[in-house]
Amino acid sequence: MIKLHDKHFEPMLKNELIETEIQRMATQISQDYAGKTPLFIAILNGSFMFAAQLMKSLTIPAEITFLRVSSYQATSSTGKVLELLGLQESVENREVIVLEDIIDTGLTMEKIKEQLLAKNPSSFALASLFHKPEALKTPIEIDYLGFKIENKFVVGYGLDYDGLGRNLSDLYVLKEE
Ligand code: 5GP
Repeated sequence: MIKLHDKHFEPMLKNELIETEIQRMATQISQDYAGKTPLFIAILNGSFMFAAQLMKSLTIPAEITFLRVSSYQATSSTGKVLELLGLQESVENREVIVLEDIIDTGLTMEKIKEQLLAKNPSSFALASLFHKPEALKTPIEIDYLGFKIENKFVVGYGLDYDGLGRNLSDLYVLKEE
């Protein structure tokens, strides 16, 4: 068991298992995109470890760029607005593959996808390392998925609890007190 700030976390998935699964995803993507040069867009901060591992296992030429999203309340009527920050590369006519750490409610990805599609990529695909099907609030198609997990808070392998835990090589789940 580990402690981050005030909370305890229990081991959930070992690094070897996570990386075997990422290798499988990379093999599938390499097959599906044979002869193409996709542009990977990794969503910061959480996906940095997943993105690094996936890129190392690809057998096709590929480019990667990183994107940060900021969410703010514009007015109460428009609800939350999500801005894409840091995207310098042109997405137009590119085969885009978004890399996300985890799809929880799906609301973040719904907005990211909408804004990227508006930039006219030639194709769009989503690869997510983890997914909590029970938490989903909007239909999201995940083209490449690592693990379906329970609807519980997890840390490690890039995911944090209030800044800590991103560097853990295994995945941990919040222990119910
Ligand atoms: P969504 O919009 O799908 O609810 O939220 C997705 C984002 O919430 C993820 O990219 C991630 O940053 C964060 N998130 C969702 N579930 C977890 C979790 O169990 N642990 C951590 N550390 N972050 C999570």
